[in-house]
Formats: sequence, structure tokens, C-alpha cells
Amino acid sequence: MDGGGCRTSYHYNFFVKNGCRVYYDGIPDIIQVGRHQFIERRVIELWINSMLVSWTSATNCACLYNLSLAQGKIPPADWSFNFSLTSDHVWIAFIILTLLEDLHARNQTLVVQHAGAHKDRFTDAIRARNIRFRLYNQPELRHYCDRCLRLYGDGATARKVWAVVIDGVTIGHPCCAIHNCHVPLTNNQHRFCPRHAVTHDKICSIVGCNEPATEGHRVCSIPSHQAVEKTHRERGQARFQLKDRLRRARMAHPNDSLAEDGSQVVGDRNQ
Ligand SMILES: [Zn+2]
Ligand SMILES: [Zn+2]
Ligand SMILES: [Zn+2]
Repeated sequence: MDGGGCRTSYHYNFFVKNGCRVYYDGIPDIIQVGRHQFIERRVIELWINSMLVSWTSATNCACLYNLSLAQGKIPPADWSFNFSLTSDHVWIAFIILTLLEDLHARNQTLVVQHAGAHKDRFTDAIRARNIRFRLYNQPELRHYCDRCLRLYGDGATARKVWAVVIDGVTIGHPCCAIHNCHVPLTNNQHRFCPRHAVTHDKICSIVGCNEPATEGHRVCSIPSHQAVEKTHRERGQARFQLKDRLRRARMAHPNDSLAEDGSQVVGDRNQ
């Protein structure tokens, strides 16, 4: 019997109505990160800054908290939980605070599903934020000029090429290998999203080759394509990476980050 009530349950940071968790307006000074765990906003900001400034992992943030802030305090014997934090608490705190700050700046409210697994609760909100950020918050994406863009061909066949200078360390986020596909990967080790994996996992990975891939391989039976896969596998092994580091270490001018003539220097010294 509902008795005409509002059917809303109120919690410290949010209320629950119709299966949705609606966070209150504003950014609270204390954020609930678990059933019995509440964290001060200052502590969460300390974790976020530790991650940004000194590459501290969530596990180490929790460890630092337990060692230096919690200082071994133990709850009464009849409590069913203890005071120690885990990396999950740190990540949940990180996600809730950053989502609240992002939405607050735009006069919006954080609304998530109340039921379901905790790990999935904020996924849709994070995805919506990431899509918006990709579309509207990267003005440099629309930049081009004569120095960084080369045009090849004319009219409909014209191709644009942007040159990028990097130091050999590339950091990307795992995504489907089909250009501009935004369907998330089931597993970060996968090459294609579930939609494209059905067809493309069975085709040779060499660009322009449509032969079926051989069992247990990413390429077809053509020997030159198999050689490419062999080199690709070797690249992932330590020996290959160490060889590359050795070549860089032997460069005549280690301050110069341009490594392209490294092999020449090694060759000269070996003569
Ligand atoms: Zn430019
Ligand atoms: Zn895809
Ligand atoms: Zn092939």
C-alpha cells in the first residue's frame, strides 16, 4: 500500500525515485562511495592531484590513506565493516566527484540507475560526457595550416595528411580497428568491436588483402603476409624493444630526440 506517499527515498548525496538515483544540486563536501563509506571532498581532490602530478595509482592512493590518514583506527567490534579503503572506493570517488563537477558547470544533474552492479552504474554518464568532450571540447581538432597539413591530389580524390612528431611513446585508448567505429570493445585485448569481429576477425589483416585468415593467425597463407605477422609478434617481445633501446643509447647526440638516423650511427661504429 503506497498511502499516497511520494515513493522517494532520500540519501546523503541523492534521492531515489522510479529506480533512478538523482544527485542533489551542487557539489557536496562529503561524498558517499560505498554502503558505509563517505569521503571528504578534500581527500578525493588529494587523490586526483596525486594521480595527475605523481602518477599515483588508485591502489597506492588507498594505501596512503590507510597508512597516514586512517592511522589504524578500528571500528567497534559489532560493526560489520572496517575503516580500510580499497582502490574501488578511490575510483568511485574519482568518478562521482568529476561527473558532479562536470555537470554542475553546465547546470545539469547527475542521474544514474539505482539498481544493478556498482561497476556499471556510471558507465552511461561517463560515455555521454566523453562523447560531448570529443565533439565540443577539442578546438585543436579543427586546426589545420600549411605547416601541419599536406594535400595530395585534387577534387574528390584529394587526400589530407597531418604530420605528427612524437617521441616514440604512443598512448591511445583501445578501440575498434574499423575507422570511426564507436562501438566499445568487449575486452581491451580485442581488435574489433562485437559488431565488426563477426566478419573482420576472419579476414587477413594486411590492408588490401581480403583472403581468409588461417587458423590461429591474423593473416592469410601468403608467405609475405605471414612474415609481416611474425615481425609484428617480435615487436611485442622484450628482445626487440631492448634492441631499439640499445640503438637509441648509442646515438651520437642523446639529447636529440630524433632517432631516425640511429641505425646509421650504430652501423658506423661497427665498421
Ligand atoms: Zn598547423
Ligand atoms: Zn567496430
Ligand atoms: Zn593476406
